[in-house]
Amino acid sequence: STMRHLPYFCRGEVVKGFGRGSKELGIPTANFSEQVVESFPSDISTGIYYGWACVGNGDVHKMVLSIGWNPFYKNIKKSVETHIIHTFKEDFYGEILSIVITGYIRPEKNFDSLEALISAIQEDIEEAKRQLDLPEHLKLKEDNFFHLPEGKIVNNH
Ligand code: ADP
Ligand code: MG
Repeated sequence: STMRHLPYFCRGEVVKGFGRGSKELGIPTANFSEQVVESFPSDISTGIYYGWACVGNGDVHKMVLSIGWNPFYKNIKKSVETHIIHTFKEDFYGEILSIVITGYIRPEKNFDSLEALISAIQEDIEEAKRQLDLPEHLKLKEDNFFHLPEGKIVNNH
């Protein structure tokens, strides 16, 4: 049920998250607003995905993304968070983030320690980098979506 939604195109404002300390772990995640999250297919699986991302009309970078349960809403709502595999000079809260999700890595997991969590995320990032170099994923980096005017989102085209 997840794969038929991919590639999934999405665009929306970056909002303040709930301070899980992602940045302190060296893995900041740009959170989408509740409204954007609500627009996701309701049957898309929670877990870790990868794809391409672009802030404003900046360059397109590799990303890993988590679709998880939002602790702020007592885990009844989903959250969608994008870690862009790029070092930015500044934060970009309030900017428009455009993403295309091209593949799925694994379901959500609980970890026994912070070290285990961090190393799992590092593995996810390495897996994303490898997958995104394959032609079927690489081609989406050049998709017109990243050059369309704001607001035009066409999925499964
Ligand atoms: P929050 O709980 O507010 O989401 P995070 O610790 O997850 O805080 O940090 C996310 C913020 O960090 C993003 O909203 C963005 O402004 C900034 N940021 C800087 N570099 C990146 C990056 N490579 N990927 C994602 N967000 C980044
Ligand atoms: Mg975050």
